[in-house]
This record gives sequence, structure tokens and C-alpha cells, in this order.
Amino acid sequence: MRPVPRSVERLIEELNRLPGIGPKTASRLTFYLLRSPQEQVQALAEAIGELREQVVSCSVCFNIAETDPCSICNEAQRDRSVICVVEEPLDVLAIERTREYDGLYHVLHGAISPVEGIGPEDLKIAELVQRLRGHPAEEIILATNPNLEGESTAMYVSRQLAPLGVRVTRLAHGLPMGGDLEYADEVTLTRALEGRREM
Ligand code: ZN
Repeated sequence: MRPVPRSVERLIEELNRLPGIGPKTASRLTFYLLRSPQEQVQALAEAIGELREQVVSCSVCFNIAETDPCSICNEAQRDRSVICVVEEPLDVLAIERTREYDGLYHVLHGAISPVEGIGPEDLKIAELVQRLRGHPAEEIILATNPNLEGESTAMYVSRQLAPLGVRVTRLAHGLPMGGDLEYADEVTLTRALEGRREM
């Protein structure tokens, strides 16, 4: 005889696989769900089921979406001459929230990081070049994160785009307010220089 029903054991095992959840938390969550109202447990099960069924990757911009192409790529009012290149789908969300941008996006799904073994071929960079060959744009805004990985990714992407003759810009990250130039670290300084806008 099993000490606990197989279904209980199974859920504990599955939860235990999730990041940040150890065996103790997995058990606690399982017994919490056992005591929860049926509707609540059902809602959670459905949400998990729908996650992979209803979320697809947009074949144009590689953002996560419910349709392919995604709603942004499909939106007729969007300015198709500008593409903003970001690392993650959440970055699209952040830029959309500003309501200042009405161009298209391209999601790389990460940044170049030798430490983590992530090279350019692991990102959607070749796909961006391919995309631009099919549908040339006037400007590419490199909006990768203002850190080492983001900077080297932006540098790499801009080199790949150079033969296409498209205008490439970098989000302007200002030096700290009132900060002396000489006290700024290399990355910040390089970033500020590269982020300069055309007048
Ligand atoms: Zn899209």
C-alpha cells in the first residue's frame, strides 16, 4: 500500500521540477490544492493546459502571441518602416506601455553571453537579417538591455545589418545626471556615445 495516493505523489513530483520550488514547497502546494475548492483547482489546471495550446511564436517578429502573425504585426496602423529589436517578449510589453512607439518589433529571445554559452546563433539574429531582406525597413532601433550582454548583442546585430544599408540607432542611455564624464564607466560612456541621435 502506498503511503499517499499516486495522484498526490505525481503532483508533488511535477511541482518539484519548477524553478524555486523544493520538495517541501511542492508538498505544501499539493496539500493546499487538495483542500481548495474544486473550481479553483480546475481554473489552475485549465490555465496550465491553455498556456502551451494557445500561445504561439509569431513567425515574423518572434514575439509570443495568440495568433501568427501576432496582433502587433497584423495591426494596419503600425509604422512598418521602423523595427525595434528587443531581448525578451516582456521588453515589448514595457515599450508598448509607454505608448510612444508605433513601429514593429523583433524579439531576439536573449542576449549574447559567452559565460552562459549563448552565442549569436542561439538568437533570432539571422531571422532579423532575413526579414529585412524580404521587407526592408528604414530604421532599426536596438533596444537591448543597457548591460554588457545587451551592449555586445547590439554591436553584433549592428555589424550584421551594416551590409543592408539600413539606419541603425541605439536607445539613448544618458550619463548619470550631473555626473562627470570621467567617472562614468566604459560601458556607460560607450553607450552614451553610440546612443547619440542624429540631429
Ligand atoms: Zn509579430
